[in-house]
Amino acid sequence: MQFETKCVHVGVDKDSNYNSCITPIYPTSTFRWIDVQTNKGFDYTRSGNPTRRALEESIAALEGGVDCRATCTGMSAITCVMHLFKPGDHIIAGNDIYGGSYRIFTNVFSHLGIKFSLVNMRDLAAVRKALTPETKCLWIETPSNPLLNIVDIAAITQIARESGAITIADNTFLSPYLQRPFEFGVDIVVHSTTKYLNGHSDVVGGAVVSRESALAERVGYLHNALGLGCSPFDAWLVLRGIKTLGPRMEAHQRGAMALAKMLSEHPKVERVYYPGLTTHPQHELAKRQQKGFGAMLSFDVKGSRAQAEKILTGTRYFQLAESLGGVESLMEYPETMSHASMTADARREAGISERTIRVSVGIENPDDLIADLKAAVDVA
Ligand SMILES: *Cc1c(COP(=O)(O)O)cnc(C)c1O
Repeated sequence: MQFETKCVHVGVDKDSNYNSCITPIYPTSTFRWIDVQTNKGFDYTRSGNPTRRALEESIAALEGGVDCRATCTGMSAITCVMHLFKPGDHIIAGNDIYGGSYRIFTNVFSHLGIKFSLVNMRDLAAVRKALTPETKCLWIETPSNPLLNIVDIAAITQIARESGAITIADNTFLSPYLQRPFEFGVDIVVHSTTKYLNGHSDVVGGAVVSRESALAERVGYLHNALGLGCSPFDAWLVLRGIKTLGPRMEAHQRGAMALAKMLSEHPKVERVYYPGLTTHPQHELAKRQQKGFGAMLSFDVKGSRAQAEKILTGTRYFQLAESLGGVESLMEYPETMSHASMTADARREAGISERTIRVSVGIENPDDLIADLKAAVDVA
């Protein structure tokens, strides 16, 4: 089955009573047993629910994993996998990861005794140097947020294998349509389904996908024990969103490429961060491990914070809002919004400046988007 066909069909057929073509929502906390030994596969919705299961089957198939657990947010997916580790364990992650991941690593799980080294993951020597005998996990986020740096997934999984650590990849920015980390040896993929998988900015959710059954079993255990599952209603929305994932991603990246080109030629723009541009330092790597370049881009405007603020409040279609991956275009300011939980020093270290603007390109007509953003940059 090809990818787009999986998006429409896998997991969806869940109604043997009436043969509805669309997965029913099962809003029940509990399920009736037939006798004290037998039930129909579900007993309690924290542990499992047919609507959530449908979503899990779908995402597992799209990533090519053996199992998936759907969670109520992307952060709860990360919470789930962090519980694979114990005090004293060491994790290496990028110094430019998602702000919420940075926060939960440095202010939550580090307090529980897990140690983190945040390094430039493009620098494989720096990754090797950060290894300790306690290193249990290499955390991959690619492309990174907000500067679209690319991490060489195969190279990182190789380092992990040599040192007996597992690799976990946050695949939120590209979705399995554009990148499948399991094909490069990653052990676990996490998602914020809030973004491209749902794609319509009307639900928050997450997912943990496992490549093999031993880890899948432990993840399933933690998911139930910690109580991280999403509601049947939310699962249903994400399942509906996934059906159009392929065509949406194509439309998203068409607009992103057009905008990146316009911005890179604009005299008031200092730098554009988009892996689809041949000037991106890791354009070739992106081409090798991604099926496309995605629809997130950032740019530094010339001038100061005032110019950035003017652009951020001067557009008609790009709404000033956090988040990404929805059909509508959004713009945001990492300095005070998505990356506010990082210290100013950490932001500078990662390369985020007061002139950096992040764009999530929607599926509107690219001509409208170009005209709108160009007009705002013109007058900045
Ligand atoms: C949004 C996001 C998360 C967190 O997901 P929530 O659904 O907001 O909890 C994690 N990683 C990345 C890369 C994200 O963009």
